[in-house]
Amino acid sequence: MSDPTRPKGPKIIAVANQKGGVGKTTTAINLGAALVKEGRKVLIVDIDPQGNASTGLGVDKEQRKKTTYDLLLEDAPLAEVILPTGVAGLMIAPATTDLSSADIEMVATEKRSFLLHDALRQPAIDVYGFDFILIDCPPALSLLTVNAMVAAHSVLVPLQSEFFALEGLSQLLLTIRELRQTANPGLRIEGVVLTMADMRNNLSQQVETDARAYLGELVFQTVIPRNVRLSEAPSYAMPVLDYDPNSKGALAYRDLAREMLNSKVPATA
Ligand code: ADP
Ligand code: MG
Repeated sequence: MSDPTRPKGPKIIAVANQKGGVGKTTTAINLGAALVKEGRKVLIVDIDPQGNASTGLGVDKEQRKKTTYDLLLEDAPLAEVILPTGVAGLMIAPATTDLSSADIEMVATEKRSFLLHDALRQPAIDVYGFDFILIDCPPALSLLTVNAMVAAHSVLVPLQSEFFALEGLSQLLLTIRELRQTANPGLRIEGVVLTMADMRNNLSQQVETDARAYLGELVFQTVIPRNVRLSEAPSYAMPVLDYDPNSKGALAYRDLAREMLNSKVPATA
C-alpha cells in the first residue's frame, strides 16, 4: 500500500460495529481472502469470544492451543498463536470462549487498552511479511474493541442495510473521536461498508441514501449484497471466494478490496 504517512509494516484495520450480526466476521474473512487474491499477505486477528472467524476459516477448536486470549493476557508470542488457514497467504490468530473473561481481566492490567497494540508490534511479526492485519471485533464497545481500535491504523465499519442501521453509529464514531484525543491520535476511518443489501427492497435503498447523505465519502462505493453463498461458505470452512468464486458475494468483496487498495487519500471522520 502506498500511504506515505504510514510507517512500514502491516496496515492494521479494526472491523468494528457494536451491533451483532451486521457482517463484521463475514467482512473480515472475505475481505481478507480478497486482499490475498490481490497479492497481499493478510492476518486475521479474532478477538470475538464466539470465535466465528476461526471456525469459518476451518480452524478446529482442538487446533486452537494458543489463542488471542494468551496473546493479550499471557504474553504469548504471536508466532505461537498464528495458524495457517486453507487459503495460502491468509493466516489467523484464533479465539475461543476463554476470551469472554478477558474484558474483566484486562481492566486489572496497567496497560489495559494497549495490550493488543503491543502484541501486534512484536518484532517477530516481520518474518511473516503481512501487508494487512484485520481485527474481527466482538459485538460491543468493550475493552476488547477498544484494544482493537488502539492497535489499529483505521476502523472499517460494516453497516447492515436495515432499519436502525445508522442508530448506534454515532456512539461508535464518538468512541473513535475520543480515542483520537487520547490513546490513538492517528486513528482513521477506513470506511463504512453497506452489507446485506437487497436492492429490490426500498428499505435497503433508503439506508444507502441516508448513509451517503450522513457519512458522505466515508461510505464505500462498493455495496455487499445479501447473498446466500456468503452465509453458506463458513460451514464449508472457506471464504466465499473459494466456495463460489463467481457468486455475487465473492465479486462484491473483490470489488471492496480493490476499492480499498485504490483509495489514495485515507478517509477520516
Ligand atoms: P457479525 O460478525 O457482525 O456478528 P456476521 O458476519 O457473523 O456478523 O454475519 C451475521 C450472519 O449473517 C451470518 O450468519 C452470516 O453468514 C450472514 N451474512 C453476513 N453477510 C451476509 C450477506 N452479505 N449475505 C447473506 N448473509 C450474510
Ligand atoms: Mg462476528
